[in-house]
Amino acid sequence: MLSLFGSGIGRGIAIGPAYVLKNSEIEIPELTLEKSNVNAEVKRFKAAISATESSYKFLLKNLPKDAPKESAAFINAHMLMLQDPMMVNESIKIIKSQLVNAEYALQSQANNLIQVFEQMEDAYLRAKKADVQHVTNRILRHLLNIVSHNLDEFNDEDLSGKIVVGKDLSPAETIFLKERKVASFATDLGSQISHTAIIARSLKMPAVVGLHGSTRAINDNDLLIVDGMRGTILINPTSSVLSEYKARLSKLRSREKDLATLTKKLSNTQNGQRIQLMANIEKAKDVKDVKRVNAAGVGLYRTEYLFMNREQAPTETEQFKEYKRITRSVGKVVTIRTLDIGGDKQLEFNYPNKLSSESPLGLRAVRLCLKHVDVFKPQLRAILRASAFGKVAIMIPMLSNFDEISQVLTIIKQTKAELKADNLAFDSRVKIGGMIEVPAAAIMAEKFAKKLDFLSIGTNDLIQYTLAIDRVDDAVNYLYDPLHPAVLNLIRHVIRAGKKAKIPVSLCGEMAGNVKYTRLLLGLGLKNFSMDPNYLLDVKERILAADTTKFRYLVSRIINADNPTQARDFLNELNLI
Ligand code: PEP
Ligand code: MG
Repeated sequence: MLSLFGSGIGRGIAIGPAYVLKNSEIEIPELTLEKSNVNAEVKRFKAAISATESSYKFLLKNLPKDAPKESAAFINAHMLMLQDPMMVNESIKIIKSQLVNAEYALQSQANNLIQVFEQMEDAYLRAKKADVQHVTNRILRHLLNIVSHNLDEFNDEDLSGKIVVGKDLSPAETIFLKERKVASFATDLGSQISHTAIIARSLKMPAVVGLHGSTRAINDNDLLIVDGMRGTILINPTSSVLSEYKARLSKLRSREKDLATLTKKLSNTQNGQRIQLMANIEKAKDVKDVKRVNAAGVGLYRTEYLFMNREQAPTETEQFKEYKRITRSVGKVVTIRTLDIGGDKQLEFNYPNKLSSESPLGLRAVRLCLKHVDVFKPQLRAILRASAFGKVAIMIPMLSNFDEISQVLTIIKQTKAELKADNLAFDSRVKIGGMIEVPAAAIMAEKFAKKLDFLSIGTNDLIQYTLAIDRVDDAVNYLYDPLHPAVLNLIRHVIRAGKKAKIPVSLCGEMAGNVKYTRLLLGLGLKNFSMDPNYLLDVKERILAADTTKFRYLVSRIINADNPTQARDFLNELNLI
């Protein structure tokens, strides 16, 4: 048995066979054929085409019910290419006329087609060249018998119950894993605070990231235990370890049952403070968890996930339907955050050019929306229209200066006027709030609070920007510290600013769902928490047992600590009161 250590994600444990990702490059041999072999080569090519067709059909048949709507159309379009004479007949002509092998002929013809698409004026048609290469690669894999484990949407292997092992995963790939019923994943890179980690937690998928060497140490079908709490991977465990983990799994389940008894309880502290516990969601599917734990509403709906794993942006109508569906089914306030892409959250499509920067300091979130009002406006219209069907609040991510607020408010005003002119209903008093994720915004919180209806502290980014640590870079992950006095001072400053302006302040970063920080945040005066619903009852349990009148002294020691170790010692003391 071998153990690997990294950063754990989620509360659970997963046990299953490894599925090691190998994105093998396709090398195309160039062979000259004897004339007598040409017919056999054409036959081999046709057989690969029909094998490719069967694998597409398998995919279509096994498409998950909740797969994006375009998936089937996408697969059908690729299947049609397999019948296209430009793809098939022309490749056969090349085999016959140039006496070359099928792989070489196919790739030559694909290159010809790609060249044609590249010259197209229309950006949409230009993008079609990627489809040609996609289909070509798939046929090539059949011709060359390449078994490659990768995570494109055309993977037709049965992944259910498997533990995916790879170098790194994007948030979009993580959603794909869940759709394919993967049990868990382990990656060499990544950090606990990345969006991949956040998605894994919300999907209840335990995982370990930052393992450095997992892809070398683990082989396909090795039996793995993934311990999201301890951050360990056990490779081919002994039978006694396996039974120990099975026992831990059943303990975890009974703890969940115990926590469920708190669902209906009001979240009041021992000294009678009412604390609002809201949920963070990424998709409509998460609403069932919001209801299961009886959250006070949705404090953060990350709409960018509606834009992921697809070929085009959702239209205003599609967005409206989705926001309306969620608003109606939650039946309590839903705080819809406007598009927050950039950094580690990237889209697959261009709009018409690549929209967002990969740098966390680049063109992302509200900056991007203000630059591309054509992206922003349809979303605002959709959110406002949904507000006619329930309690909706609009939340703007990554504000860094006052002008951005003014610009956003002007665009919202214009959008409302346009909706009125179009005779479309909306809630004219919809609340507009801003996320405090940038130190500049935190410092300016008093001013921001005068213009906004509520503030929400996004500690994931606030910590990243305050401490100058890329939240997805595991090399500097050790510096990511919610207890850093600079961070705590900013949080306290924002809470006080909200109090002064008499507007609500919530905290919706991962810190809100970590019971280690519940007492500290209560002691800093926080009244509204928003978190992954899967952690809400644990936090509620802490709140029910808390008496905030006893926290003042230790909270002030933590915030004034000289170094992280001292802060941690005081935090431990606070948690033991
Ligand atoms: C945050 O930054 O704390 C936050 C909630 O937003 P996200 O994690 O989506 O960046
Ligand atoms: Mg953020």
